[in-house]
Amino acid sequence: MAFRGSCHCGKIAYRVDEDAPAKAMACNCSICRRQGNLHHFTTPEKFHLETPRDAITTYLFNKKAIEHHFCSACGCAPFAEGTGPDGKMMVEINLRCAEDIDLDALEITTFDGAHKL
Ligand SMILES: [Zn+2]
Repeated sequence: MAFRGSCHCGKIAYRVDEDAPAKAMACNCSICRRQGNLHHFTTPEKFHLETPRDAITTYLFNKKAIEHHFCSACGCAPFAEGTGPDGKMMVEINLRCAEDIDLDALEITTFDGAHKL
């Protein structure tokens, strides 16, 4: 079953065609430690943006391999897009912006992005 998510104001909303994940990844890199994201990764085929792209502002830094999107109105960052380590396109879902997911029940793995990116 698909799950959905959005920014706070709703100008960015999406659907992911897979079951809601039970796990998430927390990263301590320079942007993730500030945003507090809980990551889930999916493929472009499963990701469906249901709102126009004109509300999206994109932040790039470092190798510019990841498009860090956020809402130009409310500032939330529900997803990002980029190229994975295998060279394929991937979509990062910030589970803090997903609906109907018990964040406290997620099995969290940590990634030492501060030293590995
Ligand atoms: Zn918004």
